[in-house]
Amino acid sequence: TQYFLGRIEAGKHWNAYLDVSAHLSLEQASIADNILASGKAGPLTGVPIAHKDVFVTRGWKSTAGSKMLEGYLSPFDASVVENLGIPSEINPRGAGMVCLGKTNMDEFAMGSSNENSAYGPVLNPWNSAYVAGGSSGGSAAAVAAGLAPIATGTDTGGSIRQPAAFCSLTGIKPSYGRVSRYGMIAYASSLDQAGPMGKTAEDCALLLTAMSSHDPRDSTSLADSGEDYGRYLNQNWEASNTNPAKPLEGLRIGLPKEFFAEGLAQDVANAVNAAAKVMQDLGAQLVEVSLPKTKLSIPVYYVLAPAEASSNLSRFDGVRYGHRAKEYSDLSDMYKKSRTEGFGAEVKRRILIGTYVLCHGYYDAYYLQAQKIRRIIAADFQAAFDKCDVILGPVAPDVAWRLGEKSKDPLQMYLEDIYTLSTNLAGLPAMSAPCGFNKNNLPIGMQLIGNYFSEARLLQVAHQYQ
Ligand code: GLN
Repeated sequence: TQYFLGRIEAGKHWNAYLDVSAHLSLEQASIADNILASGKAGPLTGVPIAHKDVFVTRGWKSTAGSKMLEGYLSPFDASVVENLGIPSEINPRGAGMVCLGKTNMDEFAMGSSNENSAYGPVLNPWNSAYVAGGSSGGSAAAVAAGLAPIATGTDTGGSIRQPAAFCSLTGIKPSYGRVSRYGMIAYASSLDQAGPMGKTAEDCALLLTAMSSHDPRDSTSLADSGEDYGRYLNQNWEASNTNPAKPLEGLRIGLPKEFFAEGLAQDVANAVNAAAKVMQDLGAQLVEVSLPKTKLSIPVYYVLAPAEASSNLSRFDGVRYGHRAKEYSDLSDMYKKSRTEGFGAEVKRRILIGTYVLCHGYYDAYYLQAQKIRRIIAADFQAAFDKCDVILGPVAPDVAWRLGEKSKDPLQMYLEDIYTLSTNLAGLPAMSAPCGFNKNNLPIGMQLIGNYFSEARLLQVAHQYQ
């Protein structure tokens, strides 16, 4: 913990952290020491971790990257923070990890580059002229720059996988419902899911095992979400296969043709194809599959996510908590001024879009239509999984872009999410793992998508590749 606190101090220029409180971390570390000394330690006891600022934490401020929640101190811990933290009476099963602090993020997790944070962008540790990705960019930069060994993230439409890809990390978004959303500041509740971001699939498996649990405080939390996600890591795909040179024999990897179409940078296509070849050499069989509605995932997501966001964000009215304008004439003026001052431009844009598509008169044309296509997208995945066990493709059309390069054009930024959105719409698990660098030495990530509840299998494939 002391080592990482020192690294955080020396690495402030990346802007990866929003709140650090050394004495709180050291307090937790000394409790973890006692647990270690008592012989009751688990695999993660005493390991430091950074939490995305979207998880509320006692002690550290919780802002979700917004001025709206500047200085906000939560009276309770999110379930994820509890599950991973020092065991307590509230949660005796806590994994005993030590919180290093809260990481920077796009405001309310809306963004793909961390440039929408009210507290400034995160710089990419591989090249500080480039973005770290988003919205979990602070978590990604913290781990990539060695300011934390591992971190939590959330993924509504790619926010774990894309920053992991941009910073050469491994990250997994589990099936919807695996990880409790209690205490996770809501963006789009039917899409939001938390997951780990670390150096390897093995690290992610350990963290995901400790993070996920059934939680009666989240009505969408699955009844049977507790399992050992690392149980297949060192096994061959087929239990009956004992050949150590062909661990992936029997695995059918589907390459969706729509993921390798125009718009994909050549360097990225080459790196992902090379990774496919490595897996083929390890025994896997490559098959072509089709996800015909891939392009529609962008308009569908950017109708549904803002619709849910406009509802979730209505709680920030200046009354119960969060920013309140200093001067106002009446109640409605107070709402108006508090929200005008507290929210950033992208958040306002999403609230406007969301409110519009939910309006009487437009509802059928936009929201309802998007819900229908969402079902078709989910069905397309099931058809693909008739032909393969795991889907492989790129995480993003290209590597990280230069700071400021896309921030003036929101539409261009939305297009960057083309390969990640559809899995959230379908609720499927998907992960990102490093698979090389482009000609400018920027990291490239590959994406592995599995059928519902196949996280342990995805991590197994990534581990065998790594
Ligand atoms: N880039 C997407 C958005 O802005 C996804 C963000 C996320 O997964 N939180 O909505």
